[in-house]
Amino acid sequence: MLMSGKDVVAPAHRYGFAVPAFNISDYGMLCAALSACEEVRSPMIVSIHPAEWELMGDEFLASVKALASASSVPVAIQLDHGATVHQVAAALRLGFTSVMIDGSLLPYEENVGLTQEVVNLAHLVGVSVEGEIGTIGPRDPQDAEALKDIIYTTPSEAAAFVEATGVDYLAIAVGTAHGVYPPGVAPELKLDLISEIDAAVGVPLVLHGGSGAVDEEVSEAVTRGIAKVNISADMKTAYFAKLREVLQDPKHREPHDIYPPALEVVKDVVKHKAGVVRSAGGANYYDYTPAGLQVPQWRGAPVLEH
Ligand SMILES: [Zn+2]
Repeated sequence: MLMSGKDVVAPAHRYGFAVPAFNISDYGMLCAALSACEEVRSPMIVSIHPAEWELMGDEFLASVKALASASSVPVAIQLDHGATVHQVAAALRLGFTSVMIDGSLLPYEENVGLTQEVVNLAHLVGVSVEGEIGTIGPRDPQDAEALKDIIYTTPSEAAAFVEATGVDYLAIAVGTAHGVYPPGVAPELKLDLISEIDAAVGVPLVLHGGSGAVDEEVSEAVTRGIAKVNISADMKTAYFAKLREVLQDPKHREPHDIYPPALEVVKDVVKHKAGVVRSAGGANYYDYTPAGLQVPQWRGAPVLEH
C-alpha cells in the first residue's frame, strides 16, 4: 500500500519501532527490499537520493509507484536529501509521498526558511516533509578524527526548528555518519541525547547513517524516539560483494543467473535490519488508510491540516 511518509512513520512512533528507509537505485533492489519486507511484515520507505534519481531517470518512479501500490505492507516513497525547492517540486510532480529537504549545512535561519517553503508546498498535496538540524558526519569518513566534525543536534534548537517549520519528522545528528566507517571505527550514538531531543520535540526522529552502526545501539535508539532509520551502505555493499563473487565465473552471462543470488543477499540484509529497527511485524499496526494522493481533490481547495 502506497502511503504518505507521515502515515507510514506515525504508527512506528506510537508503538516504539522504526520504519527502515532503504536507498534504492535499481529495479532488483526495489523488488528484493519490498519482498523481504513483505515476508517479515515490515513497513518500509523507498528512499531515492538525487544521485540515484539521476541514475534511474524519472521513468523509474512509475515502477516504484506500481510496486509500492501493489505491496501488502505500508510503503512510502521518499526523496532523500533534497537540496532545492526545484528538486522537491519535481519530486511532487512524479508522485513521491515524502520529501526530505536538507538545509543542515546552511545557517540556521536559512535552513528554517528553505524548510518552511518546502513544507508549505508539499503539504498542499499531502506529501510529508523531513527536515534536518545539526550535521550528520561526512560520507565514508576516513578516520575517527573525521567523525569529530559532527555538529550534534541540541534539544532546544530541534524543538524551535520543528515549531518554526512544521516538518513531519526530523533528522538529527547524534553520532552517525553516512556511508562506510573505516576499519575498527564504529559510531557511538549519543543515546541520552536522543531521549532529550525526543522529550523536547513532538515529531518522530530520523537516524541517518544507519549502516555500520552497532545493531544494539540502533535498537536502543529506536526505543528512545527514533522512528525512521536510513540504510544504504550495508545493503549495497552486500549486494555488490555477492555480484562480484558470482561474476568470478566468466561463463555467467545471463542476468537471470547472475542477479538472483545477489538479490537474496539484499533480502537477507533487509530482514536483518527490520529486526534491528524492530519493524518486523510492524505492518500489523496500520489500518491501511490510503495516502489520498491518487484521489482527485474535487471539493474545492486542498485541505491544509498538517
Ligand atoms: Zn542521510
